[in-house]
Amino acid sequence: MTVQTGAPVLHLEQVSRVHGQGAAGVHALRAVDLKVHPGELVAVMGPSGSGKSTLLTLAGGLDSPTGGRVVVEGTVLGELSRKRLTAVRRRAIGYVFQDHDLMPALTAAENIALPLELDGISSPAAHREAMAALEELGIAELADRFPDEMSGGQQQRVAISRALIGDRRLVLADEPTGALDSTTGEAALAVLRARCDAGAAAIMVTHQTRHTAWADRVVFLRDGRVVDETSGRGAAGVLTVFPLTA
Ligand code: ADP
Ligand code: MG
Repeated sequence: MTVQTGAPVLHLEQVSRVHGQGAAGVHALRAVDLKVHPGELVAVMGPSGSGKSTLLTLAGGLDSPTGGRVVVEGTVLGELSRKRLTAVRRRAIGYVFQDHDLMPALTAAENIALPLELDGISSPAAHREAMAALEELGIAELADRFPDEMSGGQQQRVAISRALIGDRRLVLADEPTGALDSTTGEAALAVLRARCDAGAAAIMVTHQTRHTAWADRVVFLRDGRVVDETSGRGAAGVLTVFPLTA
């Protein structure tokens, strides 16, 4: 699979998702078009129920659209076998969800190393990468702790480390700073931003307008539709309106 220069990492083409049938059907997403290029961090905002989480699960191949196509690095996810889809999800896509689903029987470092080991990387090499990821978020001291020995905020930072490990080209984050105080939240977003500056593409759902200062673009959803789109920090506006000083 070759990546053309300038090609988006993620392309949602007229993507819709209806739950249920007929008149009782819930239109979670309606004909959404969205491209995210290498280096871009896109913030998604919108009221509760507007389709933000649905957009992320479809983008990550965790759910299938009822209309349109989801294309990741030129590959149409809906055309992949289950096995190939799993491989793409594991290798190319990192997720951070609100409920940071860490494996309770594994330490922080083991949780982070797991996706790499599943990918066939040797255990010592995976552990080294896990430690580097923990250090990047300033939480190396948590390496040997189990989830129930960490605060919610610490667990969330471990989950963010896990999503960023192994050069994921597409990072999908659903309110990634939800459990973090504002300082550690900003630190986590800085790491996400740095990954994008290094060439990854990311979508982050957020409720906090000041977080959009980290984004290149902001997409607003309502009732499953994109109702507005603004450029972020690149266009002077957002940084001026939402200065980074806390
Ligand atoms: P958001 O993340 O913006 O709060 P969601 O993407 O979770 O919104 O949900 C969008 C809409 O789709 C909501 O009306 C929600 O109730 C509905 N929805 C989401 N998942 C399901 C499901 N599995 N079955 C039925 N309706 C769903
Ligand atoms: Mg949601």
